[in-house]
Amino acid sequence: MFTINENYLKLQGSYLFSTVAKKVAAYKSMHPDKTVISLGIGDVTLPLAPAIIEALQKAVAEMGTKEGFHGYAPERGYDFLLNAIAKEDFAARGCEISPDEIFVSDGAKCDVGNIQEIFGTDNLVAVCDPVYPVYVDTNVMAGRTGVYDKALGTYEGLVYMPCTQENGFAPKLPDKTPDLIYLCFPNNPTGAAITKEALQKWVDYANEIHAVILFDAAYEAYITEENIPHSIYECEGAKTCAIEMRSFSKNAGFTGLRLGYTVVPKELVSNGVSLNDLWLRRHGTKYNGAPYIVQRAGEAVYSEAGKAQIKEQIAYYMENARQIREGLIAAGYQAFGGVNSPYVWLKTPDNLTSWEFFDKLLNEAQVVGTPGSGFGASGEGYFRLTGFGTHENTKEAIKRIQALKTK
Ligand code: PLP
Repeated sequence: MFTINENYLKLQGSYLFSTVAKKVAAYKSMHPDKTVISLGIGDVTLPLAPAIIEALQKAVAEMGTKEGFHGYAPERGYDFLLNAIAKEDFAARGCEISPDEIFVSDGAKCDVGNIQEIFGTDNLVAVCDPVYPVYVDTNVMAGRTGVYDKALGTYEGLVYMPCTQENGFAPKLPDKTPDLIYLCFPNNPTGAAITKEALQKWVDYANEIHAVILFDAAYEAYITEENIPHSIYECEGAKTCAIEMRSFSKNAGFTGLRLGYTVVPKELVSNGVSLNDLWLRRHGTKYNGAPYIVQRAGEAVYSEAGKAQIKEQIAYYMENARQIREGLIAAGYQAFGGVNSPYVWLKTPDNLTSWEFFDKLLNEAQVVGTPGSGFGASGEGYFRLTGFGTHENTKEAIKRIQALKTK
C-alpha cells in the first residue's frame, strides 16, 4: 500500500496568489461594470525587448537547420551564457566567479525551492518574516519543520527573523544558531535593500557558525542606490558560505520564457564534500537544461543593445514604484521600499488587518494588492503593491487609493 509524503499535509491552505485570484474573480463576476486594476502579483507586463526577440528568432531559425540544431543542453548551461554571466554579473563588480560555479536553470523559483535538497533534513533553517513563501514551503515539504501553529502563524522548528518597521525591514542575527539562512535582497515583499556593511555581517556570522546563506538576488537589477550589493560575493568571505540565486524574470521579462541561474562556489565545502559537486549531481539527475533558444535570449540580455533596452524597462517599472510610494505618502500612508525594488510595502491604515485592507481596496477602489500577512506573521498589518503595471493603470490606482483615504 502506498503512503504519501505527510509533510505536504502541514502546508497551509491554498497559495497566497490563488486566494487573491479567487477573491478578484468573485468580485468581477458580481461587478462586471467595474474596472479592476491589479498591482498585486509580481509579474512583469512589458513585452520582451527587441534584442531578446531578435536572439530568439535567430536561435529558432538555427534549430531548423542541420548545423544549428541543438538537443540536450550541457549540464551547467552553454558556455556562451556562462561566460557572459561570469563577466557581466560578477567580474564587472569585482567578484571572481568562474563559469563552472554557475548553473543555468529555468528560473530562480525552482532553484530556491530545490537547493535545500542537498542539505541534511536535520538542518535548522532561518527565514525572514515576511518572506517569499517558496523558502518555507519547500522546507516544510522536505520535513524540516513541525506542524503549523495557526495562532502564531509559524511552523514549529523554523527560525523566523522578523523584518518590520522597527528594524527597518532588515533581520537581526537570530537567537538560535541556524544551519541554513535564506536572505533575499532587494526583498520581496518589503522592497527593502541591505547595505554592503550589513550583508558583510551576515557573511561573517555564517562563516563563524558554519552556516550556508541562500541568497536570492532576483531583484538586483532594481538597485538604484550606491553601497547596496548586487551580489553577496561582493562581501569578503562569501564564497565559503553563500549560494546565490538569480533570475532573468524581473530584469529582462523572462517570467514566461523561463531562465535563471545559481552560483555554488567551489570553496563551499562540508566535511570535504563540495556543494558544487552535489548540486551538479542533482542538476544532472533531475534537470535537462534550459532550452538553447532561451539561453541565446539570455545571452542577448548582456549585449550592448540588450543592456540598454532592459535598463529602460527597469526604469519604467521603477517610475511606477516611485509614483506609488510618493502617492501613498502624500495620502498619509506609511510606505516603504520602491527605491531599490519594484515593490512598495505599506502599513495598513486604521489598524486594519492585511486581508481587511485587501477587501476594502478591492471593494471601494477596485485596486488589487497583496496582503502582507500572506508572506508571514510579521507581514500582518502591511500590504504590497508592485510597480509592474502600466503607467496609466498605476496612476489611476494611486488616484483611487488617494480618494479612498480622504473619503
Ligand atoms: N525569488 C523571488 C524573491 C521572487 O520574488 C521570485 C518571483 O516572484 C522568484 C524568485 C522567482 O523567479 P523566477 O521567475 O526566475 O522563477
